[in-house]
Amino acid sequence: MTKRIALVTGGMGGIGTAICKTLAESGHIVVTTYSKPGREQAWHADMKGFGFTDIHSYLCDVTDTAACREMVAKIARDIGPVGILVNNAGITRDGTFKKQTKEDWDAVIRTNLDSVFNMTKPVLDGMLEAGFGRIVNISSINGQKGQFGQVNYSAAKAGMHGFTMALAQEVARKGITVNTISPGYIATEMVMAVPEDVRNKIIAQIPVGRLGKPEEIAALVNFLCSDQAGFITGANVAMNGGQHMM
Ligand code: NAP
Repeated sequence: MTKRIALVTGGMGGIGTAICKTLAESGHIVVTTYSKPGREQAWHADMKGFGFTDIHSYLCDVTDTAACREMVAKIARDIGPVGILVNNAGITRDGTFKKQTKEDWDAVIRTNLDSVFNMTKPVLDGMLEAGFGRIVNISSINGQKGQFGQVNYSAAKAGMHGFTMALAQEVARKGITVNTISPGYIATEMVMAVPEDVRNKIIAQIPVGRLGKPEEIAALVNFLCSDQAGFITGANVAMNGGQHMM
């Protein structure tokens, strides 16, 4: 395994934390972002408690193009060039299209889709120079099948995979792979906070009969970022317990 610098956006969230831990366990130097100051010290203390002492974090709003560019330059100065990028930061602003505001639309498109441009643009030159790169975009089952009340989120998440397929073709000969992961319902704090009866209705729609685990998404990210995954590019890998089959 070659040790690389792995940048995970939104790495202090439910799925992001599992991704950071797994990439760190694989021996990578993990760097993450947070946009709301306050919880980073407690998060780093938790990580140290698990034995992860080489995880770094930077305050960065992924919707801010200049801030992303500056952060990547700072990471290069402080630690080195990014070899693995996991675009994981995301939000929802749900509501039927009739009720959806332009603010809801913009917030979701900027955070889930513009962020992929903002983060990939400044890391790509370094990957091209190195002749190696791994980019993984965390989309959603709802980008594949659409979801009532999520016109904005479904559009952004579907857009992420369009980005993946086009960029994958442009950089395939340069040792860089670009892939999408589309998780179904994962047992993060947000999903576990849904009332039990509602959660059970969701689970009833999942053939495997349970929610996914953040660690399962993290294991897939880790594989897609490994040297062995060099022949997988432009893929959209579903991990949804059989809820949606394409
Ligand atoms: P989460 O716990 O809410 O984590 C989302 C992360 O995104 C947070 O760490 C948050 O950091 C970060 N973020 C949000 N806005 C940001 C901004 N403007 N700039 C920088 N960071 C920002 O959610 P999660 O469930 O782990 O989701 C992770 C990804 O998986 C998302 O892209 C989500 O759409 C996708 N997904 C989740 C599920 C699921 O069932 N949980 C299913 C399918 C797909 P701050 O708090 O610091 O802003």
